[in-house]
Amino acid sequence: MKRTLIVLLALTAASPATHAANARVEALVGKLTQNEKLELVRGRGGYDDASAAWEKPARALGGAGFVPGVARLGIPDVNQTDAGQGVNSQDGWPWARAATSLPSTLAVAASWDPEVARRGGAMIAEEARRYDFNMMLAGSMDLTREPRNGRNFEYWGEDPWLAGVMAGASVAGIQSRHVMSTIKHFALNAQETGRTILSAKIGEAAFRESDLLAFEIAIERARPAAIMTSYNRLNGTYTSESAPLLAALKTDWHYPGYVLSDWGGQHSTVAAANAGSDQESASPPSENPPMFDKPLRAALAAGTVTQARLDDMVRRILTSMDAVGVLGATPASRAIDFAADGAVSQAAAEAGAVLLKNDGLLPLAKTVRRIAVIGLYADAGVLSGGGSGQVVGPQGWVRYGSDQVFHRSSPWKAVRAVASGADVRFASGEDVAEAVRVASAAEVVILLADQWTSEGIDAPSLSLPRNQDALIAAVVRANPRTVVVLETGGPVTMPWLAAVPAVLEAWYPGTSGAPAIARLLFGDASPQGRLPISFPASEAQLPRPVLDGAAAAANTHVPLAPFTVDYDIEGAAVGYKWHALRGTKPLFPFGYGLTYTRFAYSNLKVGPGPAIEFDIANTGARAGTDTPQAYVDGPGGIRLVGWSKQALGPGGRGHVQLSVDPRLLARWDTAAHGWRIDAGERRVRVGASSADLPLEAAMRVEAQRLQP
Ligand code: BGC
Repeated sequence: MKRTLIVLLALTAASPATHAANARVEALVGKLTQNEKLELVRGRGGYDDASAAWEKPARALGGAGFVPGVARLGIPDVNQTDAGQGVNSQDGWPWARAATSLPSTLAVAASWDPEVARRGGAMIAEEARRYDFNMMLAGSMDLTREPRNGRNFEYWGEDPWLAGVMAGASVAGIQSRHVMSTIKHFALNAQETGRTILSAKIGEAAFRESDLLAFEIAIERARPAAIMTSYNRLNGTYTSESAPLLAALKTDWHYPGYVLSDWGGQHSTVAAANAGSDQESASPPSENPPMFDKPLRAALAAGTVTQARLDDMVRRILTSMDAVGVLGATPASRAIDFAADGAVSQAAAEAGAVLLKNDGLLPLAKTVRRIAVIGLYADAGVLSGGGSGQVVGPQGWVRYGSDQVFHRSSPWKAVRAVASGADVRFASGEDVAEAVRVASAAEVVILLADQWTSEGIDAPSLSLPRNQDALIAAVVRANPRTVVVLETGGPVTMPWLAAVPAVLEAWYPGTSGAPAIARLLFGDASPQGRLPISFPASEAQLPRPVLDGAAAAANTHVPLAPFTVDYDIEGAAVGYKWHALRGTKPLFPFGYGLTYTRFAYSNLKVGPGPAIEFDIANTGARAGTDTPQAYVDGPGGIRLVGWSKQALGPGGRGHVQLSVDPRLLARWDTAAHGWRIDAGERRVRVGASSADLPLEAAMRVEAQRLQP
């Protein structure tokens, strides 16, 4: 009864434009044959795969997926391409396409700047469109519950508000260019080890207050065309057939778009269809026979899936195509402006790099004459993350081993360009003695250390691979004026930290990464990124010190048996909230990052209602951009409730005003199936990171119930 009322209210409130859109979609649904409907709910692979299990359909463009359109009704083919950093290609594909790569999504998250995310999304979508793709499988946003997760670089960090706001902006940017986007992987695909067989265990309240909240925020901001379910099971059930999960999306959040499966991630017909899955994505038939092809016809004939449900699937797909402007759209096949797009990517890399330590060595003086640049392929390129998000940059790539791709953007050349006239020597660091020799002869050493991560595998530990900790220790012993630049997928440990005077986390910095790094090091750009994830001091601090399934996965002779990952250990206390709860001190806390100047905060005022305001001043001698953050002690611990980016000249002053989303003050009430704010006083704290919050005030909150 309650639900009917809400739907009725939503319908009466619909605008004339919505009525017209509904009428357009309804007219199409009415004209489609049953066969055409069944074709629309089944994706195919967009390319030939190596095992020849997939054959590229004639009109497919070579992206990850393809859904044939219905030409007679003006419904276009949907050509899907991965993903959030740019148009994906793999080296060696006959249809490989050069594309600009943004820095890793985690780097964009570290900008804490929704405008950087939105601009990046619009840029990659424009490139997708010029290659005639009308859908990007972007919007990856599983929360970082496992710092060793091989896909953390594709995600937006560990906080639901930050991830929701930033992913929402990125996907809105993509769709602003009339390219549909997903938001994925719904939900709790928080590790790659055993991703298709593990079951993520979590209680309802904790789930609503963490991962689901992140999705809820991003979805309401971006209105994505589709939601991609994840590979894993959730509390024992595959997400593509999880009725409670899909009811949260469609019933509670009134999501009007469609739900598609991950590739090969749908395992049933009737259960998936009736839980709310709307389109089965491509899956290699040898591994996983289609569930929405013949079996769906049979289920319709048997009445186990209703005609109304099939019509609803089709209606949702067409509604999204119409809303994003894909129905009837003509492809935009102009040339890509790689210089302009490279500038967008570079600006994101500069905004997202995080200065972790600086004992005064940075910014480097351009008058330095002898510089050593040390690091694997530091003469040639910058590292990128692997898997379906891989991009082939316009300058091509160099490869380490079989998979590790460095975009051609040379740090060595970029340093020479910024410090013009300097003698810049290179050593790969593979030979420690040679690196030490090159370092000893220099006035300053720039050491690029890397950690490659990829979809499909998790990092074996939080340590830098290839014995780079020893390389760094040896180089800094030979030359204490060493800055370490990290190109990592996520957090790493730093046993050499005390000896190294400066550390810059550049993440995977994208196809214009090298000039971004050089400009930051020499002060042409000022570091302003903040950590969107905690850097733990060691694995022992994690909720799961040993990665579940890792030991079994290491034994390649025995197939991995299904297992459970218990996310109830930390519940909603992900990342910094876990550290706060346990009283542990991470190596670097969530929200942390230095600039080349100093900032001070004062005059915190709270109220009326959830309003927070305070003053900020740049008390240093250089211009800089600061990101003060506000946290509220909520039910179950500390929560980020807002932040503001403030660009201030030396001596400059600013005033920050934030308004807190009520869900961040609430707890999920399982019995009432809704948010509940308990009356009382909450401590509000403001500062430079989750672990440095000098200003404090009380917020009075009234009791309130919020609809889900
Ligand atoms: C990944 C998705 C991706 C899809 C298509 C899957 O393996 O998990 O993120 O969009 O492949 O390439």
